[in-house]
Amino acid sequence: MYSDIFKLISEFDKIVLARHVGVDPDAMASTMALKDSILLTFPEKKVYSVGSGSNRFNYFGKLDKVDDMMGALLIVLDTPDIRRIDGVTLGDFSKVVKIDHHPFVEKFGDVEHIDDTASSASELVLELINETDLLMDKNIASKLYLGIVSDTNRFMFNNSTGNTFRKVARMIDEYHLEIDKLYEPLYLRPMSEVRLEGYIGLHLSLTENGVGYIKLTKEILDEFGVDSAAPGNMINNFNYINEAIVWIFFTEDVKNNNIRVSARSRGPIINTTLANFNGGGHKYASGARIAKMENSEEVIKALDSLCFEYKKNNESGDMIDKD
Ligand code: AMP
Repeated sequence: MYSDIFKLISEFDKIVLARHVGVDPDAMASTMALKDSILLTFPEKKVYSVGSGSNRFNYFGKLDKVDDMMGALLIVLDTPDIRRIDGVTLGDFSKVVKIDHHPFVEKFGDVEHIDDTASSASELVLELINETDLLMDKNIASKLYLGIVSDTNRFMFNNSTGNTFRKVARMIDEYHLEIDKLYEPLYLRPMSEVRLEGYIGLHLSLTENGVGYIKLTKEILDEFGVDSAAPGNMINNFNYINEAIVWIFFTEDVKNNNIRVSARSRGPIINTTLANFNGGGHKYASGARIAKMENSEEVIKALDSLCFEYKKNNESGDMIDKD
């Protein structure tokens, strides 16, 4: 599969890279690293990375504006379905490639490489580079490292496999990555967000069966001086609360006139439940959009039932599966 993707990259002079709406570090890292690698390998090609950006990810590089995409090759990373692709129309392109680590939702590429056991889209780009004649340098390796670190929550999620560690270890050695220096742009944040995190800790509600939830209205966001993307960026920090096996943030998004939903789990599989609320994502890291804050009650109820079932089936409390 990687050789087919490399063949298409070699054939096209103009290549556009896209990813999902609501950009996050893995989406940004995988597209920018692949762009840099294609340009390093084929300096004469025109390669563009598109989609709406966020100032907080400027360190990954500048996004491009492209007026005429006709006839180009489109590579979509980190996105399982057409509705979540940011900034392009598939019909404008001669060929479409998909590279993704989400569970399969729909086919839209002429060539698709989907591996939902991979930790991140960045891990797949690393594999693509390792297995083809695409070139890598320290800058590209640094971006891929941050994409993998972010989507594995510093290798704490169970999407970090032995394979992930082996590939990352090799990359650290080969490109002399100074990992302590790399973390700063990824984890540095304004005091306003730290204070919001304190507020969430103080006000997180709990259901009977272990769903932690909070509803963040525009008024609350304004009080802390943060935007609607901020809570989603701190949701991983609420892992390991004894009383919450699933936790979920509902954040009012005035610009899009709906509610952003961000959920995490350390047990029950939540993406199938969130798919019933216009959402999706990974088994244990999932998101959705709902029309109104009132609808959050339905989501909480559905997740609470899920936790009830999960607890009933996992009563032993054993930490290690017995064969
Ligand atoms: P987030 O909580 O925004 O970090 O998203 C966690 C995961 O869920 C990511 O894989 C997202 O791509 C996915 N996701 C977030 N929002 C949605 C949505 N509205 N529909 C489908 N998947 C989503």
